[in-house]
Amino acid sequence: MSGGAKLAKAAGRRNSPAPSAGVRRKALPVPLTMKAWVLGGPGELELVDKPVPAPGVAEVLVRVDAVAVCGTDLEVIGHGDPALVRGGAPFNKNFTPGHEYMGTVAAPGPGVDEFAVGERVAVEVHAGCGRCERCREGMYTACLNYGMNYGDRDKGHRANGFTTDGGFAQYAVNHVNTLVRVPGGMSDEEATLIVTAGTAIYALDVAGGLVAGQSVVVIGPGAIGLMAAAAAKALGAGPVILVGTGQDRNRLQTGLKLGADAVVNAQESDAVEDVLRLTRGRGAHYVFECSGARDAINVAARMVSRGGRICAVAFAREPVPVDVARLVSNNIYLFGIRGEGRSATRRAAALMAQKRFPAKLLHTHTFPFAEVPAAIRCAAQRTGDPIKVVVKV
Ligand SMILES: [Zn+2]
Ligand SMILES: [Zn+2]
Repeated sequence: MSGGAKLAKAAGRRNSPAPSAGVRRKALPVPLTMKAWVLGGPGELELVDKPVPAPGVAEVLVRVDAVAVCGTDLEVIGHGDPALVRGGAPFNKNFTPGHEYMGTVAAPGPGVDEFAVGERVAVEVHAGCGRCERCREGMYTACLNYGMNYGDRDKGHRANGFTTDGGFAQYAVNHVNTLVRVPGGMSDEEATLIVTAGTAIYALDVAGGLVAGQSVVVIGPGAIGLMAAAAAKALGAGPVILVGTGQDRNRLQTGLKLGADAVVNAQESDAVEDVLRLTRGRGAHYVFECSGARDAINVAARMVSRGGRICAVAFAREPVPVDVARLVSNNIYLFGIRGEGRSATRRAAALMAQKRFPAKLLHTHTFPFAEVPAAIRCAAQRTGDPIKVVVKV
């Protein structure tokens, strides 16, 4: 892994240890204004002064300590979608992106006793409305108050960094349901990865969950794919096979360190044949498609066993033809997930606290808060082969 851009030390901030007994109940001193990056036109980020937001009922104010750059941030900043601010594109609306952050509880809103001031927390992205059918089922990332109402604060819905202000700022407001305590001893940088692992756990959960003793293929060794391989192995799956392409060589090596039993470079061999060989000709019980590549679902359908399950985790860039007859004639189940529902993030934090896999290997680059655009460029252009680029705030 490249360490060339590890600049966190230069920022001079230290990780505060997790407070336990005697946690301060009084609010931390909070300024009236803060520095925040806002989205101008497509691809334009500007550092501005903004009022520090006030937490409402069931919300807390979080002092952001670190925020990771996600592939979806690159989409939001470059193209707008899937962010939707006040019913439209997020450009020139004083909107702050960033959704994979962690920090310290700075002030509670009215009635909040779930978290104390000074506690270190990581976040989930979605606070669903809490009143629609899906939210009541725990599927708050598929909240029905979406579309015209997506992001309607009066309905209680918020998705920080998508419909409401996110974490490329010194402070952010979060619903208590979207907070998870950071395990003691975990660095700020690693804690930003909890929500990434949460998405992987949600995919495993939705696709069937009980993977012990079953074969799992993960296509696409990006951060979520690597977390999916690591989590599947931690939950007893085997073999866990991670599939990438030529430019993913280092990521595949990281996958082995995270627990994958085998890695396949699809540019060097026939990935479908390799998977069949590794699964005694049957195909895998589960395939998690984390690449968004054009033909990935069809490839997954050739890797999965009859009656097996495919879960689509990545956003594909364009509509693609899928061999539906193959799915139907082989009784293959196809699932899709969005984000991290059913409190998967809390289970992810538990696995990481138990050190079931070395999640921190995913964090490769660090930038100071003043250099958010450079961090975004590093992630977008894959300069120095990053997996997760983290900004220290
Ligand atoms: Zn993300
Ligand atoms: Zn809802």
